[in-house]
Amino acid sequence: MAEQEFDYDLFVIGAGSGGVRASRIASSHGARVAVAEEFRVGGTCVIRGCVPKKLLVYGSHFAEELQDAANYGWTVEKMSFDWPTLRDAVLKDVDRLNTAYTNTLENNKVERFLERATITGPNSVKLADSGREITAKYILIATGAWPVMPEFAGSEHCITSNEVFHLERLPKRVVISGAGYIAMEFAGIFNALGSNVTVVNRSEAVLRSYDESLRDRLLQITMARGIQYRFNCPFERVEKQEDGTFHVFLGGQPDPIIADVVLVATGRRPKTDGLGLETVGITLGQRGEIPVDDTAKTACDSIYAVGDVTDRVQLTPVAIREGQAFADRIFGGKETTLNYDCIPSAVFSQPPLAGVGMTEAEARSAFGGNIRVYSSDFRPMKNVFGHRPERGLYKMIVDATTGKVLGIHMIGPDSPEILQAAAIAVKAGLTKDDFDATVALHPSMAEELVLMR
Ligand code: NDP
Repeated sequence: MAEQEFDYDLFVIGAGSGGVRASRIASSHGARVAVAEEFRVGGTCVIRGCVPKKLLVYGSHFAEELQDAANYGWTVEKMSFDWPTLRDAVLKDVDRLNTAYTNTLENNKVERFLERATITGPNSVKLADSGREITAKYILIATGAWPVMPEFAGSEHCITSNEVFHLERLPKRVVISGAGYIAMEFAGIFNALGSNVTVVNRSEAVLRSYDESLRDRLLQITMARGIQYRFNCPFERVEKQEDGTFHVFLGGQPDPIIADVVLVATGRRPKTDGLGLETVGITLGQRGEIPVDDTAKTACDSIYAVGDVTDRVQLTPVAIREGQAFADRIFGGKETTLNYDCIPSAVFSQPPLAGVGMTEAEARSAFGGNIRVYSSDFRPMKNVFGHRPERGLYKMIVDATTGKVLGIHMIGPDSPEILQAAAIAVKAGLTKDDFDATVALHPSMAEELVLMR
């Protein structure tokens, strides 16, 4: 088929972080682009993920600030919290962002189809509602991922991160299944807002991919704040009671935990159901992902995939970079490949933790133990003044031979904000001497980074 015979140069399925970036960049290179989205433009991050979650973290953090306010001379009378006010303000901001993303597509001349699209051939898709067939020279799959709901009796009574932003009222008692990103972030939000929180995990670890010392510190602090943990406990069943509450039965434990909300946060699986991949010879990988090469190409030459649906690194900025690289390569003639080394990440738990590069355990195994570990275990000034015993912990992992910094990991107030800057140094391959040569910025928590001994 000659190029002009296609309806579009690029048809994108999914208007989330990766799909929107790819659409807008491809269009800026002169491509004729259309995107299909079955839910709302913006995707998980904007509509039911990072952004509304961060706003809830901000909202819940006022509890701590207000408690400490008296030390600074403030009298706050009749303090109370109203969940519907916070919830609705957050959802309103989601609407604003949804409009902003829609405008971005419109301003960049990307045609939008707000319906589901299914692949019908290497260069064709079918729209579900209108039944229209559309052809395109390239198809980009950017459908993201979807929460996994493991099979257990009563799972229909549980919610996922999709529903948690819409709760009618603040639950008095929350049981959370899983101890990863979403579990630990919502445990912090609900705990700060005054709910009784129990985190249940199948294993004995929280946030498995983070440095062990930080994970231990998070556990200590959050337990002191009142979050309860049940480890090595699979969910057996959830029973709904007549009064609307739930009884959560865990494997091997006779007595149930009573909950008003049961949140399941046990991972997210690539969203590929009903995409029509079989019609173009694309076979899913072991984790349900669409396998791609380092140019994001699938097994079908005209079809590419970016973001969580490829399950490489499930993070918004990575999906954005992948979308950008794809569009620049295919439509802008730029040979860009993505480097997945030293991607910083953070968990917006309370306190938050953040890391870049190798954990101590990873470095020990990669360097045969030939590493140096520096740390700073300190009580932030604000906590001292606020009579809070909680301590921050920063760790730097260094190659003992070259002095190169292999990883930085931190837990404490504002650690994601601080780590983003430190990640530049780690990515650039700077050494411990470079950090030491930098004069401290005092008084700050970040100065601990250049004072580690
Ligand atoms: P995670 O992969 O972070 O954690 C999953 C948790 O569920 C782990 O505790 C895991 O236990 C447990 N688990 C996994 N499978 C099962 C199962 N079949 N039955 C019972 N428990 C199970 O998943 P999340 O859902 O929290 O988050 C999904 C992804 O979203 C993250 O990987 C991250 O990439 C992204 N995300 C990023 C955020 C950020 O950047 N701040 C915030 C939120 C999400 P075990 O430890 O034993 O494996």
